Amino acid sequence: MDIIEDTYRHKGLRRLLVEEIRKKGIRDEAVLDAIGRIPRHAFMDSGFINFSYKDSAFPIGAGQTISQPCTVAFQTQLLEVKPHEKVLEIGTGSGYQAAVLFEVGANVYTIERQRELYINSQQLLHRMGYKMHFFYGDGYAGLPAYAPFDKILVTAGATEIPETLLKQLKIGGRMVIPVGNNERQEMTLVIKTSETEIDVTSHGSFMFVPFLKGKT
Ligand code: SAH
Repeated sequence: MDIIEDTYRHKGLRRLLVEEIRKKGIRDEAVLDAIGRIPRHAFMDSGFINFSYKDSAFPIGAGQTISQPCTVAFQTQLLEVKPHEKVLEIGTGSGYQAAVLFEVGANVYTIERQRELYINSQQLLHRMGYKMHFFYGDGYAGLPAYAPFDKILVTAGATEIPETLLKQLKIGGRMVIPVGNNERQEMTLVIKTSETEIDVTSHGSFMFVPFLKGKT
C-alpha cells in the first residue's frame, strides 16, 4: 500500500462516498468499511483521479469500465460473503471489486479475458498487498480445477445464467449475475438449493459491459 499515495483529501472524499452509498441503501457495514478503506483512485487512469470518489463508472482502458461504487457495494452485499469463503469473480477489470471482496474476508479467485487488464490489475493488487488468485481466461468456463466455490460474482452483463458456472457453485452457494440484453440487465441472485435446483430472484436494473465468450 506504501507506493500508492493516499492523502487526507482522498480519505475525506472517500468518507463522503461511503455516506452517499449508505444513503442509497447499502446496509452491510463490512462492505461500507471496505469501500472506506480502499484507495479507489489507484485503480483509475491518472486523468480521472478527480472523479475517483464520485459514485460513477469510468473507463479503465481496453474498452472496459470500473463499475460504479454503489453497484460494487450492492453486488457484494447481495453475495453475503463470510470470512474465508472461496469466491470466484468473473471480470477482474480494474481489480477494484476484487479488492472489495478481499477486504470483506473472501479468498478471491478472479478471472479476466483481456490480457492487458489481467496484467495491470494483477500488478496493481500485488503492489497494494492484496493476496489473491489471478487467472487469464474465459469466465464462461469458470475455474473447474478450483471448484466448488461458496460464491460466484459476475461483473459483466450476461444474456443467461451459465450452466458451467452453476455446476461450480456449492450447494447453498450464491451467485450474483446481471442478466439481460446489451442495454440493461437485471441484477440476479441465484441460490443453489440442491444439485439440480436453484432459487432465482431479481434485484433491480443495471448497465454493465457485455459478458463476452472467449479471450483476447
Ligand atoms: N470487476 C471490474 C468490472 C470490470 S467491467 C472492476 O471492478 O473494475 C467487466 C469486465 O469483465 C471487463 O474487464 C471485461 O473484459 C470482463 N469480461 C467480459 N467477459 C468476460 C469473460 N468471458 N471472462 C472473463 N472476463 C470477462
